[in-house]
Amino acid sequence: MRTILLFNCVVITFFSLLSVYNCVPTSKSDRKSSAKQSSKTSSPPKQKLILILADGVRYDYINDPTLKGFKRMARTGVRAEYVRPIFPSNSYPNWYTIVTGKYAESHGMVQNFMYDFEKNDTFLMWPHSNASHPHWWEMAEPLWTTAEKQGVKTAVYWWDGCQIRIKNTEPTLCLEYQSFWTWPNVKNDTMEAIDEILDNFESDEWQLALIYYEAVDATGHAFGPESSDRVEAMRDLDEILYHLQEQIESRNLSETVNTVVVSDHGMLMVETENDANKTKIISIEKIIDEHDVIVMLDRGATSMLIPVQGKESKILDDLKKANTSGLRFYDKPNIPTKYHFKNNQRVAPILLVADKGYFLEGFSSHGKTRPISDVLYPGHHGYDPYDVKEMRTIFYATGSRLKHGFVSKPLMMTDHYNLICFLLGIEAAPNNGSWNRVQDMVAESNAHVEYYSSRPACENVGIVFQSSISMIISMAIILILR
Ligand SMILES: [Zn+2]
Repeated sequence: MRTILLFNCVVITFFSLLSVYNCVPTSKSDRKSSAKQSSKTSSPPKQKLILILADGVRYDYINDPTLKGFKRMARTGVRAEYVRPIFPSNSYPNWYTIVTGKYAESHGMVQNFMYDFEKNDTFLMWPHSNASHPHWWEMAEPLWTTAEKQGVKTAVYWWDGCQIRIKNTEPTLCLEYQSFWTWPNVKNDTMEAIDEILDNFESDEWQLALIYYEAVDATGHAFGPESSDRVEAMRDLDEILYHLQEQIESRNLSETVNTVVVSDHGMLMVETENDANKTKIISIEKIIDEHDVIVMLDRGATSMLIPVQGKESKILDDLKKANTSGLRFYDKPNIPTKYHFKNNQRVAPILLVADKGYFLEGFSSHGKTRPISDVLYPGHHGYDPYDVKEMRTIFYATGSRLKHGFVSKPLMMTDHYNLICFLLGIEAAPNNGSWNRVQDMVAESNAHVEYYSSRPACENVGIVFQSSISMIISMAIILILR
């Protein structure tokens, strides 16, 4: 009897250990080989997809009744009530979320301006060349890299990052980012890009194309979200979308070409005229001694401080004593978990977050704050996306597998990625998106997205638990029988 029980115990222990072994998350190289294998064994995806990122489109800009391109997309496809950006509601963190489905702490693009404590390197957004160092981008893998690895030829127009060799892969075509302010023909060039993309879709040269469009964000910053320039920029974007849909229809491509139109964040008006609603300026140098700080990374809505060694608690004490209204501050361990932000070495020891109606001004000493420019524009973003509704943005999509005229409940920025991979027919990398939140937009009720790994990492946790319980019970019986 005792021999049988001992044998039983050994067998259970063996399978338990096997389950623990299987539970180890798949390594990057495992995932790579899995992706390669899948492109060899499955037939190439027949669907094509254009992803347009229109920077700085606030969720309510679409209420302009003259926008016929957006209206047409809503009628023939799906849209979301609104999209909540990830924290912080700035461009680079959200751009990388759109193409990875991950939060900032997981994809590593934690701010437009950041410092890597392991590489001793500072990220300064375009046009600084530091932003093109591959290590900034390699904590995750963007959609264009994943697609190319699975044999999907991808063209990327003006989306920053496409010029970088990420994980040894480059897109088939990359036109580097160009500033809106030095690009008078941006609208026409974008329309021509669409024609070029559809030509290449028709000839089966490309299957995926990404376009970045900056005009709405640029005018929203420079002239304010309510300005006529911003309204005109939105109407230009609308004409581009209308042109895209006309082309898809006239070329008879509706069954194979999917379109996804997204944005990264909204925009809040910085009020300088009206005394009643005037934006209050918080001057950081009136609260903190600049000699205690190595550098302040970004300003306005969300900022990170790198203290001089040994000065962190003094800075926190000064912030506490000042008790400045409209300013929240956190030491790194106490950053709210819901931001999905703190668990990354690029997050500095102190985080500052200004409330709506406040603007955090950097240090006046040259170079103490990055960026160096201290111009106060009439439009700003970067505010807490959980509190400030003006940070919300848009999502539209059309495709043969999507419903028509459907309005989805609000999405998170992390959600787009799974739907894009599904529509394109490629395997998604593991991510933070929710399939539950996007599946209502899909016409088929049993649709699902495939992941790199055929089995989700750690799905055997339940088996491990049950086996361990069996083992404990067996050992207890042995002890009783002794
Ligand atoms: Zn942006």
